[in-house]
Amino acid sequence: MPSCDVLIVGGGPAGSTCARELVRAGADVLLIDRARFPRDKVCAGWITPAVVDALDLDLVDYAAGQTLQPFRGFRTGSIDGGRRATDFGRVVSYGIRRREFDAYLLARSGVRVLAGEPVRELRRDGRGWRVNGEIHASMIVGAGGHFCPVARHLNQAADGTTHHEQVIAAQEIEFRLDAASSCRVDGEWPELFFWPDLRGYGWCVRKGDVLNVGVGRLDPEAFPATVREFAALVARLGIVPGGVPSPWKGHAYLVHATSQRRVVDDGVVLAGDAAGLALAPSGEGILTAIESGLMAAAIVIAAGGCYTHETLAAYDAALTHRIGPRGRPGPLAHLPGWITRLASRAVFGSTWLTRRILIEDGFLHTRRPPMNRGGTARSV
Ligand SMILES: Cc1cc2nc3c(=O)[nH]c(=O)nc-3n(C[C@H](O)[C@H](O)[C@H](O)COP(=O)(O)OP(=O)(O)OC[C@H]3O[C@@H](n4cnc5c(N)ncnc54)[C@H](O)[C@@H]3O)c2cc1C
Repeated sequence: MPSCDVLIVGGGPAGSTCARELVRAGADVLLIDRARFPRDKVCAGWITPAVVDALDLDLVDYAAGQTLQPFRGFRTGSIDGGRRATDFGRVVSYGIRRREFDAYLLARSGVRVLAGEPVRELRRDGRGWRVNGEIHASMIVGAGGHFCPVARHLNQAADGTTHHEQVIAAQEIEFRLDAASSCRVDGEWPELFFWPDLRGYGWCVRKGDVLNVGVGRLDPEAFPATVREFAALVARLGIVPGGVPSPWKGHAYLVHATSQRRVVDDGVVLAGDAAGLALAPSGEGILTAIESGLMAAAIVIAAGGCYTHETLAAYDAALTHRIGPRGRPGPLAHLPGWITRLASRAVFGSTWLTRRILIEDGFLHTRRPPMNRGGTARSV
């Protein structure tokens, strides 16, 4: 019967980052994932430089065996309007393939992995946990993504129900471009197409000879019409000869401003999508998965084996400090439709606003202070 002090559920960026820190600290840690790696994850695969920093990622080593596509600029616009190019003249982000990225990070962490094993059952067992009836752990880090069973356990009412959540629904397809085809997306210039109501956007992100096309919207009920509309636009623009294949794969996630998930309790913390931490409006969730993985590891180490709600509560405060308040959408979320349409027209019509507000603030988060490498984690 496998047992451990800390069990991490999920081997995505949140879980593998947390695992790496705990392994380095000499903790007795086991990571369980329902998948065997490498595995696919529905995601455009855009990472910002803050991700590279937070992971202390050696880009030369990474690029030696994995796809790493530098981005130097963006083409943006409204889905029903013109396009605008914003050139940074230097590398401001990267494209990765999640299948490769997640497997690389998990292997790098050096953690003991129980792969191909879904968490089906979680029970309190004295001061610890019994998982699937056989794994015993004193502490659990729930990093199993949006549908993480640990997040469900922590957030369900006594009658087994969970509260309604305002999710971002997203669908994408990633496919290899055939050598002879002339895809109109330049690898260094991802293309973003916004709906005028600013409730979602579509993207075409090329990573070497692979193209990722997808859409994300705040209103899941708009699917599948949204996908049809966007695929038709991509075909009309002649981005890929012969159009975009199907079927697209879908997933959901929460942005931190609307997430109301409880993230800490006796013997448990949640990290990454399990905690609902993606940044708005881009939906960037890899960065916050990694940052929360670091913070989760720091609190576990600081707890020194005393995994009570009281000792772990500082994690919640650290998340709020770093990522922002949760469950409190800003005033912009309640603007009437006509104001958002006017605002979007103003942004897409201006080179300065597109660069400064949309791309630098909304997508690259260039003015967000960097997280000390390991430092913030230790200063929880
Ligand atoms: C269409 C789409 C596009 C996106 N594009 C981007 C982007 O370009 N850039 C960006 O930063 N973010 C993007 N995101 C968000 C990003 O994908 C997530 O925020 C990020 O993957 C969260 O990482 P995580 O480690 O928390 O969870 P995940 O990456 O979801 O990993 C969770 C792991 O838990 C495992 N698991 C799940 N259930 C169980 C179980 N019951 N038992 C055991 N294991 C389990 C899974 O197999 C998985 O390996 C996108 C999301 C979507 C849906």
